[in-house]
Amino acid sequence: MTKQYDLIAIGGGSGGLAAAQRAAEYGAHAAVIEAGRLGGTCVNVGCVPKKVMWNAASLAHAIHDAGQYGFAVDHSALHWPTLKLKRDAYIERLNGVYESNLAKRNVDLIRGTARFVDAHTVEVNGEQLSARHIIIATGGKPRWPDIPGAELGITSDGFFELEDRPQRVYIAGAGYISVELSGVLRALGAEVVHAVRYDGPLRDSDELIRDTLCTEIRRQGIDLQTHTIGASVARADDGTLTVTTLTGRELTGFDCVLWAIGREPNVAALDLPAAGVELTDDGHVVADGYQNTNVEGIFAIGDVTGQADLTPVAIAAGRRLSDRLFGGKPDRHLDYRNIPTVIFSHPPIGRVGLTENEARAAYGDDIKVYRTRFTPMYYAMTDDKPQAAMKLITAGADEKIIGCHLIGPGSDEMLQGFAVAIGMGATKADFDDTVAIHPTSAEELVTLR
Ligand code: FAD
Ligand code: NDP
Repeated sequence: MTKQYDLIAIGGGSGGLAAAQRAAEYGAHAAVIEAGRLGGTCVNVGCVPKKVMWNAASLAHAIHDAGQYGFAVDHSALHWPTLKLKRDAYIERLNGVYESNLAKRNVDLIRGTARFVDAHTVEVNGEQLSARHIIIATGGKPRWPDIPGAELGITSDGFFELEDRPQRVYIAGAGYISVELSGVLRALGAEVVHAVRYDGPLRDSDELIRDTLCTEIRRQGIDLQTHTIGASVARADDGTLTVTTLTGRELTGFDCVLWAIGREPNVAALDLPAAGVELTDDGHVVADGYQNTNVEGIFAIGDVTGQADLTPVAIAAGRRLSDRLFGGKPDRHLDYRNIPTVIFSHPPIGRVGLTENEARAAYGDDIKVYRTRFTPMYYAMTDDKPQAAMKLITAGADEKIIGCHLIGPGSDEMLQGFAVAIGMGATKADFDDTVAIHPTSAEELVTLR
């Protein structure tokens, strides 16, 4: 017999869990189908273990600086296996918390891989389930390069399985993950070659941020190799890995090759043609501004839609969708403009709104740009003088802020509050009218000239 629900979320990651729980809070009979570990990418192989590693790397930087603040510190190396054990235990606890949260709200958890039978029915472990509303929230997975020897490398999933710190790492890719993991590995003592296809990582970031990042990662000793594309990987006689580039250059001596070249949507197992759901050219599920797919009653949220691959985006889209379907809020939907985002590089980067290039393309000469580059006061005591940088972009006569870009210590925590102000339509005059908090880096943003 087919089991009936009001809502089925396929995928127990950030988006699926949020949507199902919100629906249940409105009294809907909801189910989550999860093929792997509850919590999805973010909890198991994404934000959470990454942030633990980023924290460890930040501690390594602090230990390095502590001597210059007068501390007698022991620079003994990190015991990676201890950290991994604690990190894994923390995540296991979270998996349990997610499961009990579902139980508390009477959301059924079905473990297995779902595939569509028709537009209102899915099959899991041979059992058919039907719902008025089905949400595709199956997320994504790391992309592998199609080159000989690629399988000798790992992706970010494999990074979180490493039992010990690699000694010499080749990281390919130019996005968030490449920048975050190269910073972590370098801070924790690995030699890092970061290979990018063009002239630097994060090509779609604002130029000021990109330039500052490149300077800072080189300062930390990351060997940033631009215009470098791996064409093959081979294991040498001594067991190390050699990457041969498209131009025939050999980069040698690696005990870890890490592919961070993007992610692709998890759709293969779903049999979407059975339900008639359309995909974009790059394989994401087509979803409109209300998360509707082309098939009535089927919705898509989170990474599988490729709109903004961020946990809070998947959660917000899921909750708003359930508000709309079950909460009597027919116009509730996520506005994808002005989504703040942080890259946990060392130092961290924060961004909300348009880059200078994007602003110029949208507003022509009707923009004004304020920028600063400075040495945070923390480094007054250190020999090394890492730089921070900030940029505000305004549009129109009233100088409404349309872009805010930060790089430097604290940018990760700084951005959220500024994002609220910018989301509310703050102008440069509003920033200028705000009394500064001294001495901080954040005060630079309200004193820009
Ligand atoms: P997911 O969390 O991927 O969940 C999808 C779930 O669906 C998975 O559990 C999968 O097992 C399941 N599934 C797939 N197919 C099926 C099927 N057919 N049947 C049943 N279940 C299925 N975002 C941030 O905001 N901040 C960060 O700091 C951050 N760091 C990241 C670091 C890394 C290394 C990575 C990889 C990602 C990071 N992200 C970060 C992105 C964030 O993890 C994702 O945007 C978020 O997890 C997307 O949520 P989702 O619900 O769309 O998909
Ligand atoms: P991204 O899509 O961010 O970046 C991947 C980049 O790698 C591409 O933009 C491209 O840059 C480069 N690339 C693509 N193909 C190749 C190739 N064959 N060889 C070498 N380089 C290649 O992917 P990520 O995997 O880094 O991250 C996926 C998403 O996950 C992010 O976009 C983000 O939304 C999310 N995420 C969020 C985090 C956060 O919030 N802090 C942290 C981690 C991930 P180019 O064209 O310049 O070569």
